[in-house]
Amino acid sequence: MTTSNEWARAVKVIDGASQVCLACHVRPDADALGSMLAVLQALSTRPGGAPAVVASFGDDPFEVPAILRFLPGVDLLSAPRGYPARPEVMLSFDAASIDRLGALKGSATAAGELIVLDHHASNTMFGSINLVDPAAAATAVLAANLIDRLGIPLTEQIALGLYAGLVTDTGSFKFSATTPEVHELAARLLSTGIEPGVVSRELYDRAPFSYLHLLAAALDRAILEPAAADGLGIVWTSVTRRDRAASGLPLDAAESVIDEIRRTDEAEVAIVLKEDDAGVWQASLRSKSTVDVGAIATALGGGGHVRAAGFSYTGGADAAVAAVRKLLEQQK
Ligand code: MN
Repeated sequence: MTTSNEWARAVKVIDGASQVCLACHVRPDADALGSMLAVLQALSTRPGGAPAVVASFGDDPFEVPAILRFLPGVDLLSAPRGYPARPEVMLSFDAASIDRLGALKGSATAAGELIVLDHHASNTMFGSINLVDPAAAATAVLAANLIDRLGIPLTEQIALGLYAGLVTDTGSFKFSATTPEVHELAARLLSTGIEPGVVSRELYDRAPFSYLHLLAAALDRAILEPAAADGLGIVWTSVTRRDRAASGLPLDAAESVIDEIRRTDEAEVAIVLKEDDAGVWQASLRSKSTVDVGAIATALGGGGHVRAAGFSYTGGADAAVAAVRKLLEQQK
């Protein structure tokens, strides 16, 4: 649990900096990017001598996921190539380990102060100041706390990134981390003028027509293994490069396939393997009530939360599932 002393140190370091460099994890989701964009805009609009702010993430090629381009502040991002090699002060968002910063790992290692904002239980505490709270529903909760402590009022632009993170990481306020405090923060964010219907349509309720064919291919090859995980059951499928080529869609378009697969009543664990452009499988894991998929993903070199996690796998899709199956047997 982060102490108030740790928060006070973070505020002091940011207040005293002439430049602040922000980074979130590679292939950012709405929580990572939304939290970072919120702090980016909060610091940039700060009255009375704002510090210079740089914000990026370590993907090469550098591309903001299409689904997140509606977030205010994306135009303020810059590619990792121009990122300071030795930032005076650097802030990391939603990354459980320094490796998750990708191309910006070197800058993080060389930073004068590295402030880590994260809510993964597996966080390695790689910062000089760690604002890490596994009980927080989203990194956005911690980013909102930081903005409050910096004394910066919320605008609609700042609030939108935080709201997108909160909506995404709570599964639209459905998951068990959805505490009264989460709804209280959501209420504050909405009171800035955000339209929740617009946010949910951007994040969940839109896709090009060709997505239906990609989803159909993935659903068609879904496999149920009721006996796996000691009878709790697993359900899994894949989205191949060929599927994406046929529908002309990027990898991030396959993110929501897991939300269909995980409905399956007969399976505690759901797995979707997405083949990236390099032929590496990006695996998404979900569980309902008993299995810790975060521990399984961590054991396979990835990470995440108890009910939602992911890892990368080089080899066959069948072998990736076999590796999960084996760890499930050990976990019982
Ligand atoms: Mn998160």
